[in-house]
Amino acid sequence: MSEQGPAACAAALARSQRLILAAHVHPDADGLGSALAMALALRSLGKQAWVALDAALPESLAFLPWGDVLHEVPGPYDTALVLDCPEISRTGRLAGALQACPTLVVLDHHPPTKPFGTHAWADPSAAATGELAHALIRALGVPVSGAMALALYAALADDTGSFRYSNTSPRTHRLAAEFLEAGVKPYAVAQQLFESYTPQSLRLLSAALARIQLFAGGRLGLVVLERGLIASCGALDEDADGAINYVRGLKGVEAAGLLREGEGQHRVSLRSRGRVDVAAVARAFGGGGHAAAAGLTLNGPLESCLPALKAALQAALPGLPA
Ligand code: 5GP
Ligand code: MN
Repeated sequence: MSEQGPAACAAALARSQRLILAAHVHPDADGLGSALAMALALRSLGKQAWVALDAALPESLAFLPWGDVLHEVPGPYDTALVLDCPEISRTGRLAGALQACPTLVVLDHHPPTKPFGTHAWADPSAAATGELAHALIRALGVPVSGAMALALYAALADDTGSFRYSNTSPRTHRLAAEFLEAGVKPYAVAQQLFESYTPQSLRLLSAALARIQLFAGGRLGLVVLERGLIASCGALDEDADGAINYVRGLKGVEAAGLLREGEGQHRVSLRSRGRVDVAAVARAFGGGGHAAAAGLTLNGPLESCLPALKAALQAALPGLPA
């Protein structure tokens, strides 16, 4: 059993000297923004700290004040800090290096699926891991710099869909206000996160919107992006990320799914308006996430695995009043 809670995690980090930080594969502004803010805070305490990536940094997150924090630094490290990941497998190819560290601290706001680490603080009431990172930075006695505020504001803005989703709380807005007071320009961040379309990414969005299929009387919306479509639009894989929100946004849709066809492995994003627990559906297929936003990977030929997912989503729709 690992040591739990913010005080135990802060104490473990305070004892550390040389750290590797990581977020989940296909990282977003919450995972990487939180990791960057924590790395900067740990460095300000005189520690060596780097953020490692499973793959290339997504272009959409290049605006964060990385400095020399992103680095493929050979180990060993005495401590790993894993953020925004409910299970170690979500760190992808970094999992081995992270698990090799004598101290492994986990900071997350997902309901933990397969708890791991020597120290953990998981609080699903937090809108973003960034809220928890902020609390740890304060617990370490570090003042929040402008760069940390920017990284943490991006984390909050991204995971709350610009402070719109049901996870947004008074705490989220209070923290956002603190970050603005530290100099963050909200429209500058919004432009980076939400208004940075390229002609190619809009072409892909247009193709995705044209592929929306409705089931269950319009209560279930699905999009399948066939292999090659993303490339034929000249777009990046991450350019498909936002399309799912349009499917959920369709009036009457209660659950939405977006599938990216791969070579025998297909990535699926799920979203709900609130009445359907899509994390439970995702878990049934080996995935996970939050009740309103979850994901999973399907294996095998699309013809055989897609109907099972569709049936599970349909079965998860709440009954209509008689
Ligand atoms: P997205 O659809 O934006 O990739 O992911 C939505 C949410 O589900 C995020 O919190 C993400 O971390 C989680 N998620 C996505 N795919 C998986 C998966 O395969 N396994 C688990 N456990 N969580 C996932
Ligand atoms: Mn998150």
